[in-house]
Amino acid sequence: MSAETLVVNGDVKRLVEELNFAKKVERSLRLIRETYEQYGNRLVVANSLGKDSHVVWDLAKRVSPEIRGFIVTTRFKPSETKRFMRAEVARYPELRVFSHDEPIPDRLYATDPDRCCDVLKVQPTRRAIEEMGVDCWVTGLRCTEGRTRTDYREIEERDEGLVKLNPILIWHEREVWQYLALRQIPVNALYAEGYRSLGCAPCSRVSAGGDERAGRWIGTSKCGGECGIHTRPLRTSGELVHG
Ligand code: SF4
Repeated sequence: MSAETLVVNGDVKRLVEELNFAKKVERSLRLIRETYEQYGNRLVVANSLGKDSHVVWDLAKRVSPEIRGFIVTTRFKPSETKRFMRAEVARYPELRVFSHDEPIPDRLYATDPDRCCDVLKVQPTRRAIEEMGVDCWVTGLRCTEGRTRTDYREIEERDEGLVKLNPILIWHEREVWQYLALRQIPVNALYAEGYRSLGCAPCSRVSAGGDERAGRWIGTSKCGGECGIHTRPLRTSGELVHG
């Protein structure tokens, strides 16, 4: 990674406002390209089927059509998302799908959403990273999305030996839609209903206001929060995480 990247990496908030859209696209492509040169096939995109992931997926495909990805899905994803996922996987067979299909307690999302996310999202993500031999995973995380997303870097190593690249960290929501429109990239039909952040059906609502993630986990302690894939260890065993 170049020295310039490392220096500005520390000043994310300034870059959010100072770089224009074209410069951000250029920067994101450069981040993916340089990281891909370093990691090759061990670089994999995590595709959540949301708008941000689709920008990252398209940027990655511009860098190299060979770049692989994975989708973590759950039994609670809305039918629109499942339909959209099937279409995307048919279009890009290099997208692998991971899920947890064993029985879990009824309504675990209501009684213990942290545990539910851990079982249905974090564990399959951990499995994807292991089975696909990932040393660098690429995400669509953005620092302006909500209160839980302000403390990230474009390149980080929260798990030892597992680099995380957040190539659109400094993009505004508007710029995400700008990119999708300019590149004519299809999106999940739920966005037409007013959703701004997509998740599982019981835990996602249409929301308004400044916080994009305000519609997630409404009425629980996780409101506007995280499923855990960005906050929990991904290299450790399931037993440790559940302890
Ligand atoms: S988003 Fe809700 S339903 Fe989906 S895994 Fe998390 S708690 Fe469970």
